[in-house]
Parts: sequence; structure tokens; C-alpha cells
Amino acid sequence: MDKKIIIIGAGPAGLGAAYRLNELGYTNWQIVEKNGYIGGLSASFKDSQGFTWDVGGHVMFSHYKYFDNLVDKLLGNEYLEHLRESWIWIMERFVPYPFKNNIRYLPKEVVYDCVMGLMEAQNNNKNNPTANFH
Ligand SMILES: Cc1cc2nc3c(=O)[nH]c(=O)nc-3n(C[C@H](O)[C@H](O)[C@H](O)COP(=O)(O)OP(=O)(O)OC[C@H]3O[C@@H](n4cnc5c(N)ncnc54)[C@H](O)[C@@H]3O)c2cc1C
Repeated sequence: MDKKIIIIGAGPAGLGAAYRLNELGYTNWQIVEKNGYIGGLSASFKDSQGFTWDVGGHVMFSHYKYFDNLVDKLLGNEYLEHLRESWIWIMERFVPYPFKNNIRYLPKEVVYDCVMGLMEAQNNNKNNPTANFH
């Protein structure tokens, strides 16, 4: 007999895992969730005035066909598309979001520091491979 899979947490990851198991034809699983609702940090709540409050944001920026197709299938046209344009004001200038992709807009010496720091971190990691998340 198939072993039972226990999925801990009904956030997007847990719900996604369960969905995928079903899709693969494996139904011997169970999700356990400590809260009385599903969705984890992506949950939303409706207040008595009818307003919906999101715990976390609901912005999606996937580049994965499987995920995009799934969103289409599950949400139909119940979502809005916006071109995101955000900026970070730092060092007397605006840097486009996401910041880490746009450090080239910073002063040259700061860009140099960032790149050197990255190389240093990579080298340190080679000598001391990370053993755990902590
Ligand atoms: C303020 C904020 C804004 C965000 N904005 C965005 C955004 O715009 N776009 C985006 O893609 N992401 C956004 N995120 C991130 C997104 O919410 C998370 O990446 C996503 O919810 C992670 O899903 P998860 O299933 O891994 O974890 P979680 O959502 O944390 O779900 C984990 C679940 O496990 C349950 N659980 C934990 N421990 C146990 C246990 N011992 N037993 C049983 N159940 C347990 C929890 O109750 C929870 O329901 C945002 C997050 C925050 C906080």
C-alpha cells in the first residue's frame, strides 16, 4: 500500500503540494493546519463592512508556465494585471525595484563595494560550506 504523506501547513506551499499530488494521481495524503483557516501568510479576511484584508501581498510575478496556467485555471479572470513600477529613494537618487537587480544605478564606488562583498561572501562559503539554515 502507498505510504501516507502528511503535509504540515495549508499555506500556498502545502496547498500546492497537495494539488500536485492529486494531479499525479496520488491521493493518500493529508494536510494538517494549526490555524482555523487556510492560506497561511497569503490568507485574506473579510470584515463586517465587506472589505477584504490581505495578510500578505497578492502580487504575482511568476515566470513559470505551469504556475501561470494553474492561476488561470483556478482564478479565471478574477485578477488584475498591472505593470509594476516602484522606486527606492537612496543616496540622493531613485533606484528601480527590485533593488538587487539595479545596483548599477548607485555611485560607482558603492557598486564596487557590493560586487567585492559578493565575491568575498562566495569565497568564504567555499572554505566554510553552510551546514544548516541557522
Ligand atoms: C506582508 C507580506 C507581504 C507579502 N507579499 C507577497 C506578494 O505580494 N507576493 C508573493 O508572491 N508573496 C508575498 N508574500 C510572501 C507569501 O505570503 C509567502 O511566500 C507564502 O505565504 C509562503 O507560503 P508557505 O506555504 O511556504 O508558508 P505560509 O504562508 O507561512 O504557510 C505556512 C502554514 O503552515 C501552518 N503551520 C506552521 N507550523 C505548523 C505546524 N506546526 N502545524 C500545523 N500547521 C503549521 C501555518 O499556520 C500556515 O498556515 C508576502 C508575505 C508577507 C508577510
